[in-house]
Amino acid sequence: MEQFNSVHEGMAELHKRNVGNKKIHALLTFQHNNNKLCKTCFLFDSKEDAGSQLVKYDRLKISNVPVLEMPAALAARQVAIDAELAEGNLDELGVVQEGHAEEFLIDFFETAVALAQDVKYVTIYITHSPCIPSDRKPSHSLPGWPASCTAKFAKLAADHPKYSFTIAFLKKYGNLQGNDAPQKFLKNLSGDRANLSFIEMKDGPPYERP
Ligand SMILES: [Zn+2]
Repeated sequence: MEQFNSVHEGMAELHKRNVGNKKIHALLTFQHNNNKLCKTCFLFDSKEDAGSQLVKYDRLKISNVPVLEMPAALAARQVAIDAELAEGNLDELGVVQEGHAEEFLIDFFETAVALAQDVKYVTIYITHSPCIPSDRKPSHSLPGWPASCTAKFAKLAADHPKYSFTIAFLKKYGNLQGNDAPQKFLKNLSGDRANLSFIEMKDGPPYERP
């Protein structure tokens, strides 16, 4: 998590990181009860699963294995990784907890609200639309929360009826690609809550609440 003391700076960083890679970034911003923008905002990024992290950093990389034996070697490595993770040995493996950017944001939400103070509106800018239950790997890293980030935002909004939430995303993710009405689709999927809406941002200046 990174903290910025200007939403302009946070947005600039979000756009800078929206460079077509698979990593997802989410910026948490607030408006106060007098509608003034809270200067403090928080940026989160996604973390790959432990196996991908290990391969990327060349730890536990499998080499010198005949092609035909590769699936078995990969499966064996996954068993070893899962065993270490089940023991809570993340540090041992030199990896960090996996998760979607939105999950880290939700985990930090109460702290962020306390820092921002006097919150009325919550606007979350994401490089990609939140994942949905029918996606190949909906987020599952936050204990006690439903699978998928869309379902998690629905719970977050239900838990905080006094705040209005807007989820603004730059591009469509996963099964939402090709959907011509992503805003309406996500709104329906999240239970049509009065205090939760979704906005697909077009290129141009950052979204501002009317
Ligand atoms: Zn997600």
